[in-house]
Amino acid sequence: MDKENIIADDGEYIANTYARYKVAFKSGNGALLYDFDGKEYIDCATGIGVNIFGVNDAEWKNAVKNQLDSIQHVCNLYYSQPQTMLAKALCKKTGARKVFFGNSGAEANECAIKAARKYGNTRYGNRNQIITLKNSFHGRTIATITATGQDGFHKYFNPFLEGFKYAEPTMDGIFKHYTDKTCAVMVEVIQGESGVNVLNVDFLRELESFCRKRDILLICDEVQSGNGRTGYLYAYQAAGITPDIVTTAKGLGGGLPIGACLMFGKCGDIFGAGDHGTTFGGNPVVCAGALNIIERLTPDLLLEVQGKGAYFKQNLQHIKNVKGVSGLGLMIGISTTKPARDIAARCLQKGLVVLTAHENVRLLPPLNITKEQINTALKILNEVISE
Ligand SMILES: *Cc1c(COP(=O)(O)O)cnc(C)c1O
Repeated sequence: MDKENIIADDGEYIANTYARYKVAFKSGNGALLYDFDGKEYIDCATGIGVNIFGVNDAEWKNAVKNQLDSIQHVCNLYYSQPQTMLAKALCKKTGARKVFFGNSGAEANECAIKAARKYGNTRYGNRNQIITLKNSFHGRTIATITATGQDGFHKYFNPFLEGFKYAEPTMDGIFKHYTDKTCAVMVEVIQGESGVNVLNVDFLRELESFCRKRDILLICDEVQSGNGRTGYLYAYQAAGITPDIVTTAKGLGGGLPIGACLMFGKCGDIFGAGDHGTTFGGNPVVCAGALNIIERLTPDLLLEVQGKGAYFKQNLQHIKNVKGVSGLGLMIGISTTKPARDIAARCLQKGLVVLTAHENVRLLPPLNITKEQINTALKILNEVISE
């Protein structure tokens, strides 16, 4: 099958939910991707932050293959060694007490929403409202599009769930929507989909103490910002806050589908048997790969990510037509005077894969991208943005 056939059959058989660029990747190596014509690209998208150590990573492939040779799936009625090992590693590294595994970011957030509602309802009776932020993104299921604070996601799918309020990312915004029925506040420490907006650290710290005083759960959605992406294991650590629940997905599986809901402290005991569950979640092959990823996110590697991120930012700032550069580590937003989609398309022509996020260009390169590859990416970005 060549590219033209793929595009034609995709148009005929795949649901029309994606505005795809006319590119089909076939293989890759690290931060390099190859399409069906053999053209090479530098990957600053990683399939939206998923292929965290790039493509064809030997260590991760070994972990996955070894598990495939033992057993590919066990249901959650029985114990699972890879699932247990991954949960233990995540808890030891973060201080979380318990983990629930699903298959995606949306499922991790569904779990957090259920946990928060059970906590509020059982402790306080009928306390089940959740405050999320304007311009947030929490997923595509009915509960998580309801949680998503963007009108664009709320067009056709009513009726939505009750009990969600959207606040400006300030304490005034929170106070406006807070009631004695509020059980949780859910925030992305860095809003990825809406442009790589880093939330103000003072706001996050005030929010933490506001929540703590009232026994409201603070949920950090780190689906995109987690797992080393920002040069911290999780971005909340950079802000110096301690959430009650952390959700993550994307990079955690190194390329295979996984979502995790990490429950800290008092949240460790919210769920009892039968309260939540999944068929595929915590799959042993996926967990074996994820364990390899988590073990490699060492302090040294995280420092390297911080350094690469700083280097990117320094060199992006001075490009003509760049208005601002945001983000942390290798989660980078670039605001320019030009339409982001045009920049992304032009970069593709020149062999660089970048993402957009609202009006901004977004970079989520693999953590092991080399300095040389960063320089090539910068050269192409410079040409495209300043032209
Ligand atoms: C991508 C994303 C999600 C949704 O994850 P899926 O795996 O697509 O369900 C939720 N929250 C944030 C912050 C995300 O970036």
